[in-house]
Amino acid sequence: MMGTTARILILYTGGTIGMIRKDDEAYHPFSFENLISYIPELKSLGVELEADSFDEPLDSSNMTPGHWQRIAHRIESDYTNYDAFVILHGSDTMAYTSSALSFMLHNLAKPVILTGSQLPIGIPRSDARENILTSLEIAAAVNEEGGPLVPEVAVYFEYNLYRGNRLQKVSSQDFEAFQSPNYPFLAEAGVQIKYHRRYIRSASIGRFQVLPELECKVGLLTCFPGMSAELCVPQIENPQNKALILLSFGSGNAPNHRWLLEALARLIERGVPVINVSQCSAGEVAMAKYDAGKVFQDIGVIGASDMLLEAALTKTMHLLGQGLEGEAFVDAFRANLKGELSD
Ligand code: ASP
Repeated sequence: MMGTTARILILYTGGTIGMIRKDDEAYHPFSFENLISYIPELKSLGVELEADSFDEPLDSSNMTPGHWQRIAHRIESDYTNYDAFVILHGSDTMAYTSSALSFMLHNLAKPVILTGSQLPIGIPRSDARENILTSLEIAAAVNEEGGPLVPEVAVYFEYNLYRGNRLQKVSSQDFEAFQSPNYPFLAEAGVQIKYHRRYIRSASIGRFQVLPELECKVGLLTCFPGMSAELCVPQIENPQNKALILLSFGSGNAPNHRWLLEALARLIERGVPVINVSQCSAGEVAMAKYDAGKVFQDIGVIGASDMLLEAALTKTMHLLGQGLEGEAFVDAFRANLKGELSD
């Protein structure tokens, strides 16, 4: 249960939110002290804040699974010291980080809210101030029993709170940069913040634990009209593949090229899981719906249901990292672990 004043750790990892424009006209990350100096309201929020920063703030395009582990371990080592965590992060790969953290932070019972912005905080029309202040308010929000209202990994951006493994960046231009096509918002911020409590996960009661292991050797093969055996078969047969994600069309259909089916079947026979994620973000993979999809189901390709690529990829890395293979991998991949797919 939280005390009367929430203690929140802000971790600045980088991103546009804290960038400045240099002589070359490009945006470069700058220091956390600078960022915070633009939001004097932080002092009167009624929460106890502490802040820390990556030594070298990153454009999130440079985020790696190693950085996800750093964030997860930081939350682990400070788990009992704070009521909630707010991670400032670039928007480009924020959905990958939030998805990965949702799997790595096991038995989470506290809010972990990621946010960022489309314009740097120093720019007059920036969305950064609102995103940070509302994220902090959400992180500090409590229910009738005094427990956290949002005890899960979530992303706050432009008036909406998203489940961390249910969103995708869809615009590099609009302030509303993200969408969650297959799951409702957890909250919407207007004059007041409206929490959609039936969509928010309950706090876990087990012992909080970080599961840091990730297997990154996951191949990605995008289907397109004109894809050729010469380019694709070597990619499928690469002995480094520990899993392969096939980015299919529509409800999980793909070109029925004999070479594609045979190469994938050989991979599956070797014990390497092949996962079907649709290029359509909204909706779900249902391979049996069309002959063009069913042939892939018949050779043992695993459908990703309504998981987005970000969730399916990081879940695959996580499950392989846990040492799961064969039927155990398939069962865990199909299961709803952290709200990433619809039952
Ligand atoms: N390139 C930036 C990043 O992801 C974009 C942003 O922060 O919105 O770090």
